Amino acid sequence: MHTTFGLLLAAPPWRLIGNVAIVVGAVFWLASAFWVFRDARRRIGSTLLVGIATLLGLAAPLLGPLVYLFFRPAELLREVRERELELRVIEQRLALRGIECPTCRASVEPSYLVCPICTTHLRQACQSCNAPLEAIWLACPYCAAPVPPAASLPGGPSARAQLRAPQQRVSN
Ligand SMILES: [Zn+2]
Ligand SMILES: [Zn+2]
Repeated sequence: MHTTFGLLLAAPPWRLIGNVAIVVGAVFWLASAFWVFRDARRRIGSTLLVGIATLLGLAAPLLGPLVYLFFRPAELLREVRERELELRVIEQRLALRGIECPTCRASVEPSYLVCPICTTHLRQACQSCNAPLEAIWLACPYCAAPVPPAASLPGGPSARAQLRAPQQRVSN
């Protein structure tokens, strides 16, 4: 009687605890694999790589998610997108701000031929219509006149001065 009572008390709880442990383990395993899937989707753009990460999380309980943690990209895709957007906004703002004089850093308009502060030659005027020309243009876009090779090097005097500067430093 005593042993039967003991068996009744002892055996089922152990089996219950074992079953509960198995269920908890399975839930934890599936939850960690799902976490890997959700986290990978927020960090990795490629569907194939997200699938591989999820498989890793499923195939190796505990170890898979741990390995994924070590190798996952540091940044979220949303953060990467936000950073790229910010960079584009900064670039646009810089483009709107115009260009700087290469000598005195004063802000100059794209139409300026000469820096008004330090008189550095910024652009050559078209010989036919006097429009300001960019350095790399081979023809004037306003009147179709070809730009002579010598004229397509604006800031010639300043460029020559910059070339001379190191020699002066050497002679000093
Ligand atoms: Zn200047
Ligand atoms: Zn022209």
